[in-house]
Amino acid sequence: MSTITLVPRQSDSSVILSVIVPYFNEQEVLTEFHTRLTSVLDSLEESCEIVYVDDGSSDGSKALIEHFPSTSSDVVSISLSRNFGKEAAMSAGLEHCRGLAVILLDADLQDPPELIPQMLVEWRKGVDVVNMQRSKREGESWFKRFSAASFYRVLNTLVKTEIPENVGDFRLLSREVVDHINSLPERNRYMKGIFAWPGFKQTTLQFERDPRYCGETKWNYFKLMGLAVDGITSFSIRPLRLATIFGGLIALVAFLYGAVIVSKTVLFGDPVSGYPSMMVVQLALGGIQLLSIGVLGEYIGRIFIETKQRPLYLVQSVVEQSSNTRNETLEKSA
Ligand code: UDP
Ligand code: MG
Repeated sequence: MSTITLVPRQSDSSVILSVIVPYFNEQEVLTEFHTRLTSVLDSLEESCEIVYVDDGSSDGSKALIEHFPSTSSDVVSISLSRNFGKEAAMSAGLEHCRGLAVILLDADLQDPPELIPQMLVEWRKGVDVVNMQRSKREGESWFKRFSAASFYRVLNTLVKTEIPENVGDFRLLSREVVDHINSLPERNRYMKGIFAWPGFKQTTLQFERDPRYCGETKWNYFKLMGLAVDGITSFSIRPLRLATIFGGLIALVAFLYGAVIVSKTVLFGDPVSGYPSMMVVQLALGGIQLLSIGVLGEYIGRIFIETKQRPLYLVQSVVEQSSNTRNETLEKSA
């Protein structure tokens, strides 16, 4: 239980299913999660590995995982050097997993591990991406549901890649899709878009998303807003186009209005009036200009981040624990 590898691993046909679990300070739930997950994986014929990615937890989560007794699945515990965010942790998992089918699962038991066999049935039929769509968002306020619905509406109007609504990161990807995703060079990783980008054969299953088992969500509204802006700006340049169109339209109206003012002045003289209309026009234009500069800034910021070419995450350690069945084979052959 102490081999340390720092290079991404190649797919290995002896592992059929990899389950990637990014976690950040989840010590209250991990034992229950591991028990539920391994009891599902034990019932499968496929050889499985669980890839836990520690996203810089500061509680006892990592030690907990490294002391889990061995099961019929291989367990890989990757630790990032600090908290890089869930998107980076998932990328680390995708680069280190070996399975021919890969499932991403949250550690907080909101995505029931019991659905894995159903997802594998679809994969065996030849489907490359099994999207898990939430039919109910249990335990979420109406405001979160409303803002999520509005976000997907805006996103799918702006973005050409169809990003399925109410599908989180919980999904199955085939090895081919995972290899394509791993080859994407960008640093701004809006994973829901990245998962949808390669295309291939897709299917969607409905499921009821449970409330968090315990603990609290790591997302607040500011973080979610940041994620929404990331989602739109990394998959679409339409906001820039909209700024241009808006600017053009306003310039046209301003030109026409200018012509009206000039004609009025020539015909009827120049009495001092129009303070309210001038203020309205100035404020409206100022607002739109600031907004457009903000939009430009978002894109320039992203270019800045991309040009730095920093790695998405840093791995501090990788600890692998072979399955107990594999250990038995090794002991027999020794
Ligand atoms: N997570 C992570 N890094 C972070 C934040 C969250 O790896 O910086 C993990 C978290 O431990 C959980 C999953 O991502 O396994 C989903 O997080 P959370 O439940 O907080 O999000 P929500 O379900 O509310 O969208
Ligand atoms: Mg959650």
